Amino acid sequence: MTSAPAILRRRPRVCIIGGGIVGASAALFLAMGGAEVTLFERDRIGAHASGVNFGGVRRHARPAGDLPLSLRAHRIWHRLPELVGHHCDLATPGHLKLAETEDQMAVLEAWLPVGLQAGLDVRLLGRADLARRFPWLGGNVAGGSFCAGDGFANPRLVALAMARAAERHGAAIHESCRVRDMTPRAGGWQLDPEGRPPIEVDQVILATGAWPLGPDPLPDFRVGAPQMFVTEPVPLLHMPVLGLISGAIYLRQSQRGNLIFGGGQGSIAPDGRRSRPDPAGFSRTPALLQRLLPGRANAAIIRSWTGIEAHLPDGLPMLGPSPSAEGVFHAWGFCGHGFQTGPGVGEVLAELILTGQTATDLSAFDPARFATVPRRAPAPPGPDMESLT
Ligand SMILES: Cc1cc2nc3c(=O)[nH]c(=O)nc-3n(C[C@H](O)[C@H](O)[C@H](O)COP(=O)(O)OP(=O)(O)OC[C@H]3O[C@@H](n4cnc5c(N)ncnc54)[C@H](O)[C@@H]3O)c2cc1C
Repeated sequence: MTSAPAILRRRPRVCIIGGGIVGASAALFLAMGGAEVTLFERDRIGAHASGVNFGGVRRHARPAGDLPLSLRAHRIWHRLPELVGHHCDLATPGHLKLAETEDQMAVLEAWLPVGLQAGLDVRLLGRADLARRFPWLGGNVAGGSFCAGDGFANPRLVALAMARAAERHGAAIHESCRVRDMTPRAGGWQLDPEGRPPIEVDQVILATGAWPLGPDPLPDFRVGAPQMFVTEPVPLLHMPVLGLISGAIYLRQSQRGNLIFGGGQGSIAPDGRRSRPDPAGFSRTPALLQRLLPGRANAAIIRSWTGIEAHLPDGLPMLGPSPSAEGVFHAWGFCGHGFQTGPGVGEVLAELILTGQTATDLSAFDPARFATVPRRAPAPPGPDMESLT
């Protein structure tokens, strides 16, 4: 159980810095719980990773420490109509993680008991099972693991829907407003938002994605810009969400037939706030598609984009009370699977702030876990099973 010092005010004043899915869901659950909520977003709600990601809503193949939060989030995804008035295009055709080698298959086999223990409907499929169930799959696939109930949602809708619902519950949301600084004050914090008067609050949530700030020293982390593509509509295959365990490609099909897939990395501008696709990525797409869907390898690409995410050394976010500063909560550094957990993160933060504790195990995300880790050279960007959809 994670606990935070109990707050004394009957109606805590909470400031959330960052309006991605994490900040927006925290705003929603805190406002629903009666807190006085102010959210500052430097750009627009959902303008960064939360609004441009692949949309994968997946519990499958996550690190064990990530699963309690992911399971909690899964339940909230199904409550979106009640919470925000829209299902945000949530669809749950299942998730199929695919191995191209026996070594990769061994990784899926090793994860199976983790998934079963967590209560997931997950099963391994051999080459023959795959060929029978998914005859359109590429021939290099050696086997896979299928998780029922996982799927995708529309990232363009979710953070925005949560922020608007938070406003209906009384939260104040300020866009195009960067928080420049935060200073301790008796019993709370003063924040300095650009172009607005300073504001004093009791608690601060640092939901700043790949741009950490706040009073604690930062651990090493690297940033990445996964590249996404969308094709012209092609005949529907009624497929689950697919992903190679190597991370080389992950793919889903929209209801209109467009293939939406990710693979490779774009580049990040020197200001660290903008990213753009690698033009060479376009020439690689037929070969990428060939590995999963040979029959669609030549589908025309109509658009490509990227988004920025942060990777901590263990691939897990910083989530929980600050180790050094009372009233400050970390909630940043969510990489390739933070869209799925986003709704759960907001609910857990609201619980911590409003009740002083949460029953969801957050120990894997402890913001103090890197305190004694010596600094090391950032790892080169590259896919791994934990970080990709
Ligand atoms: C291309 C791509 C594909 C992905 N695919 C998936 C997927 O399929 N499934 C999945 O689960 N996850 C996926 N992810 C990861 C997921 O998108 C992120 O983990 C998640 O969106 C992080 O949400 P966030 O709110 O923490 O960060 P963000 O969405 O980055 O939001 C942080 C916000 O903080 C704001 N901010 C920063 N500093 C300040 C400041 N000083 N003042 C005010 N505002 C500030 C920023 O402007 C930003 O809007 C993907 C990520 C990318 C980039």
